[in-house]
Amino acid sequence: MKTTVDSLQGSRLDLFIDGQFTRPHSGQYVPSYDPTTAEPWYEFAQADERDVDTAVRSAQAAFRHPSWARMTQTDRGKLVRRLGELVREHADELAMIECRDNGKLLKEMRAQMRAIPDSYLYFAGMADKLQGDTIPVNKLDTLNFNLREPIGVVGMIIPWNSPLMMLTGTLAPCLAIGNTIVVKPSEHATASTLALAELAIEAGIPPGVINVVSGDGMTTGDALTRHPGVAKYVFTGSTMTGRKIAGNAAQNLVPCQMELGGKSPHVVFADVDIERAVNGVVSGIFAAAGQTCVAGSRCFVEASAHERFVEALVERTRRVKVGHPVADDTDIGPLALAAQLEKVRSYVASGVQEGAKIAAGGRQPQDSELARGWYYEPTVITHAHNRMRFMQDEIFGPVVGVVPFRDEAELIELANDTEYGLAAGIWTQNIDRAMRFARQVDAGTVWINTYRSAAYMSANGGMKRSGYGRRGGFEVMREFSRLKNVVIDYSGAMQDPFVIRLR
Ligand code: NDP
Repeated sequence: MKTTVDSLQGSRLDLFIDGQFTRPHSGQYVPSYDPTTAEPWYEFAQADERDVDTAVRSAQAAFRHPSWARMTQTDRGKLVRRLGELVREHADELAMIECRDNGKLLKEMRAQMRAIPDSYLYFAGMADKLQGDTIPVNKLDTLNFNLREPIGVVGMIIPWNSPLMMLTGTLAPCLAIGNTIVVKPSEHATASTLALAELAIEAGIPPGVINVVSGDGMTTGDALTRHPGVAKYVFTGSTMTGRKIAGNAAQNLVPCQMELGGKSPHVVFADVDIERAVNGVVSGIFAAAGQTCVAGSRCFVEASAHERFVEALVERTRRVKVGHPVADDTDIGPLALAAQLEKVRSYVASGVQEGAKIAAGGRQPQDSELARGWYYEPTVITHAHNRMRFMQDEIFGPVVGVVPFRDEAELIELANDTEYGLAAGIWTQNIDRAMRFARQVDAGTVWINTYRSAAYMSANGGMKRSGYGRRGGFEVMREFSRLKNVVIDYSGAMQDPFVIRLR
């Protein structure tokens, strides 16, 4: 793997098309910044329409090429597994690249890199398990069956917060099925996707099966989502961008799978061990500095426990260590972008303006060592209500609003009073109540007495404006394959073409 942390400093990264690094047509390169210092780290190529077209054509050719199209599913599975093994071999390097690119904790990125190979292994095992079915029809001497086939070129647009983790969830199954891929990583975290494309070649995956077009969303992303040669899109990102992409794709009548934003309710009932619930709420919102789609940013607490819960939450929040993402004792690192920091500041200010109170955090850390980076203290806001702007919009930062509720009816109303429906969490010892909540809440995933406990073995996705389609489990294999119905008449009889046979 040529792309390493050391090699990246001051370097220029090209596009990855047809198995090799390729200069962009425009000759343009854009800096990527280190969020701990706000200084440029490396430059990536800005792909335009022409580069996107070359990449899609390369993926189309690879889709038809016998080296991929005529490979048995078992052999394809072996390559997928091999790619996962290579990720494992380079886990520390890849983790360090992502940590430097997006400012997330090194220990978290390392944990992700260790989980990713298992995900490849899981989907590799599905390569030879995707099967069609036969259909009993009201015709004698007829065999009617459905074939499951790959769909073609899949366009993938991923965000900066966990690039390889996000990518793997659909890339691994797409490879196992036999699709080919064009990925557009985020302009804020490009390098690890290019490193992965290199590893794919090393794994023996034919050139053109995975192509990477770097660049910004408005140019490269837009060109990819307008290209008529793409069979399906995978998008992970904000709801606003999702709307644009779905609009572009609709012009070519191409389906999308959308994993969008969230404003997830995190519920605490008075019957629960408060310390445990506080830990759950803290990790639900502050992990990755709140830059996770499932962040439990709206915390609803049963009124009788509200005061003591807030007290414990504030005390625990003040002990969260904000620091350099590489340090072992850091709990949360910087935000990934300067714009993200501004967004967090402005939402906290809007909450205060609307009458809410900051109970913890609410500013940048005072530590001079962190002054240059895009850091923000974990923030608890009380005296809030659910219709305040900071309680309705996705902030994607370390900010939680706490609101009391009286009973289950009010809770469900509050929890579902959002345009999103990605995840929800509930802490209670009463399983009946937990199940009533799980059934009534609008969320693709519900966690009971836990939070952020995701698994690639289960199907995840959103409801409402949080998107559609599912990733994980066998469900994703159906999402990225297509059915073709085939009918065989084995009667051997010569039919009169103009006789209509009634049953
Ligand atoms: P964005 O929607 O801004 O960007 C996501 C990706 O889309 C990036 O690669 C971006 O490119 C690209 N993009 C931007 N505009 C366009 C366009 N017009 N056409 C095509 N592509 C475009 O989201 P963020 O990167 O800011 O990521 C944070 C968001 O992602 C949050 O809202 C979060 O909830 C969501 N998210 C959802 C997850 C889920 O599983 N549901 C998981 C993780 C994040 P570029 O950045 O280079 O401009």
